[in-house]
Amino acid sequence: MMRADFGITGKGYSMKIEVLGNVQDGGVPHLGCGCKTCEEAREKPRKRRYSTSLLLKEDDEDDAVRYLIDATPDIRFQINATYLDGVFVPHSELGHITGLLYLGHEGIDASKINVYCNEPVENFLMKNDPFRYLVDRENIEIQSFEEGDSCDVQGGEVEVREIPHSHISRNTASYMIKGENKKLYYLGDINEFNDDAIESIEEADIAIIDGTFWSRDEIDRFDEVPHPPIQESMEAMENIDTKIYFTHINHTNPVLEENSEERKELEEKGFHIAEKGLEFQL
Ligand SMILES: [Zn+2]
Ligand SMILES: [Zn+2]
Repeated sequence: MMRADFGITGKGYSMKIEVLGNVQDGGVPHLGCGCKTCEEAREKPRKRRYSTSLLLKEDDEDDAVRYLIDATPDIRFQINATYLDGVFVPHSELGHITGLLYLGHEGIDASKINVYCNEPVENFLMKNDPFRYLVDRENIEIQSFEEGDSCDVQGGEVEVREIPHSHISRNTASYMIKGENKKLYYLGDINEFNDDAIESIEEADIAIIDGTFWSRDEIDRFDEVPHPPIQESMEAMENIDTKIYFTHINHTNPVLEENSEERKELEEKGFHIAEKGLEFQL
């Protein structure tokens, strides 16, 4: 297996990161849900929310270098793919991999877009149609990108740090994105923050992390789909200096409602929500 070949090396630009979405894989509205948040989103387009994803870009020009982290089912609303240099796929679940299908012949019929992923994701892509077609038709080119690997991207660097994650893949990739002046750590979807994850959050200036649920009793099947509840994360991270933004928020999570008590509490404690459209200059 080859090391990732990133081609684009530092051009002296500092890197910008744009938030493209901030909800859990199933989106808002969530299929089959009649909760207030979902019903409102069905009625009012501006209340709809896209799955968690980030765009790394050098600037807003049409031909700027662009890398996507997380290929969501909302990809066609999130980016204009005319120029897309690569996609980072942290693991093979709905919100992180299905957007790749829009790069195929039913979509933009892309040519050799680099897909940076670990071995479990590569195996998944190679063994399953219609993802396999993307590789066969050379719409995408898989680049192995494993624990400890790092690469230059438009004047910055992306380093992969793998964190254990149940479900389909063994690990999920998290990313330490290093610009000229700042580091941003992204771990959008995880079962729990282990010591390695906490250390990476501490190391970064900005962290965008899993905020799927507010509390453990928010849904009946929490044990089936465990995520670190925001209530507990805020307690665990109250003494960390890093500017922390929550993402991958479930439709059931009251922090999605701007006027909720939970949202107020979160902001009063100095935490943030990674709202779509936010930009970070690294
Ligand atoms: Zn997810
Ligand atoms: Zn709902």
